Amino acid sequence: MVLPIRLIDLAAFNLQERNENLRMGAFFGAMLVMMLYNASLFIFTRDRSYISYCWYLASAAFYVASEYGYGPYFLWSDWQWFAQRSNFLSVSLAFLAAGLFERQFLNLKGEGGWVLRLSNLVIAYWSVAALVSVVNPWAMGYLYIEHGGFITCVLALSIAFLVWLRGNASAGFFLVAWSGLVATTLCLTLAMAGLIPMSSYVRSAQLMGFVLEFLLLSIALADRINREKASRLRAQKALLIAQEQANALLEDRVASRTHQLEQANQELRRLSSTDPLTGVSNRRGFEERVSASIERGRAEGQCLAFLMLDIDHFKRINDQYGHGVGDECLAVLGATLATFSRRDNEFAARLGGEEFAVIFYGMSAPSAEAIAEKIRVAVAELELELPASSIRFSVSIGVAAWIPTTGDSPLTYAKAADEALYRAKAQGRNQVCLALSEYA
Ligand code: GH3
Ligand code: MG
Ligand code: MG
Repeated sequence: MVLPIRLIDLAAFNLQERNENLRMGAFFGAMLVMMLYNASLFIFTRDRSYISYCWYLASAAFYVASEYGYGPYFLWSDWQWFAQRSNFLSVSLAFLAAGLFERQFLNLKGEGGWVLRLSNLVIAYWSVAALVSVVNPWAMGYLYIEHGGFITCVLALSIAFLVWLRGNASAGFFLVAWSGLVATTLCLTLAMAGLIPMSSYVRSAQLMGFVLEFLLLSIALADRINREKASRLRAQKALLIAQEQANALLEDRVASRTHQLEQANQELRRLSSTDPLTGVSNRRGFEERVSASIERGRAEGQCLAFLMLDIDHFKRINDQYGHGVGDECLAVLGATLATFSRRDNEFAARLGGEEFAVIFYGMSAPSAEAIAEKIRVAVAELELELPASSIRFSVSIGVAAWIPTTGDSPLTYAKAADEALYRAKAQGRNQVCLALSEYA
């Protein structure tokens, strides 16, 4: 009841009632719309701020309904027990919900320190007040809730101001929203205390304060959730970039390891097909290359020349000078053969013991015979220096040369060249023999 009471006539009363009902209708309508809106946002986003905001809205609506007489008059007029408690309960719940909302909205848990302790104190005080208002409303006088409400307003604004200074953008919204409500509530309180004249504007100012506060907080909530989403996206992007960089690094490493491995493999292949003593191909490498050359000669209709060499009386050299010297002879011969087979499609190999072979691709029998003769002379002119003396040695060479056909294999060439070599040995060694034409 607001004193002094004024007497007015029926028409003026009806007009005032109509305006008041319109304002209340608009107020509760706005609250309901915001509640539904935020409840649906909670359902879609599962963000708990929305639901605590809904509680806050509901408690504010409850407070207005009970404080302005609409609740006791329309909703719980027949419920004496509740009617005796609704005023204190609605005030306590409104402050409690506001305290809880502020704590969550401004993330006071994250702030910690005395800011959080003060917020907890406010929440505890209003929890007790809500409980007492239900259990024993007559004891409410001991709680001094007018003072409590005033102190709560000061604390809530101070906390918001401090957090805003620390850079919390949401706190700015909260400050403005709450200042408006506190200012309009102060007007109403002053009017009720008779300090300023009461009017329908003053009565509706607090309602406007509520609606504006909740509108502003709705916007602030959406803004905060947007900012959090943006920062989440930024974090995700940064993570993605870091991941991509790590992947690129890994790929680089894999590529460089693969390269190293390939080089090692190549070296291994080369070693596994090279004779360590003489540096020319061993039998394994030789057979692979001869097969390929035969294949190619067959396809291109090119002549293939196969020279088979054997050191003459090598056993004697070994016996006379020792195996070390024999090995040196083998090495020197290998080097000499290498100089004669430098171009593409030419290669030398040690087939085993003191037996060697040289291949010339695209070379006719007469040319092959001529180059075999050059090799023979070159070897015969070699002089191996020993500590006390020097030695010379010779080779016999068998030459097989023809254009490969379907029946030809490394073996057919080796057999023909070997036969020619046998003849060269038989005819006195240190000479070149061409394979008989029956092989060609
Ligand atoms: P010919 O003129 O008939 O070919 O006479 P030769 O003595 O060369 O013939 P033979 O095939 O009987 O002897 C080959 C010798 O080569 C026998 C072996 O001791 C020697 N020999 C085989 N491999 C090696 C080697 O890696 N190092 C040395 N020092 N000697 C080897
Ligand atoms: Mg031999
Ligand atoms: Mg020999």
